[in-house]
Amino acid sequence: MATITMRQIRDGEVPFDGGTAIQEAADRPVFRGNGPDDYLCVECGNVLATAMHRVQMTKKVRVRCARCATVNVAVTEEPEAMAR
Ligand SMILES: [Zn+2]
Repeated sequence: MATITMRQIRDGEVPFDGGTAIQEAADRPVFRGNGPDDYLCVECGNVLATAMHRVQMTKKVRVRCARCATVNVAVTEEPEAMAR
């Protein structure tokens, strides 16, 4: 099982669909799947989602950390061409 650190959502990175999952307790991952990877908060290392498949953690999946209130997204291979 791998652990993947998510990244913080950028300012002005407006959610275009889907929603932000709010983690209610710091010791309770928002998502629990049957895949190979755990996803950690970029800011504090808290586990936000556990046993997830990579394909489940798209840019539409955002999680607000219960511990530090950072909004995380899983997708890190953002096309840099979009940044001006
Ligand atoms: Zn956090």
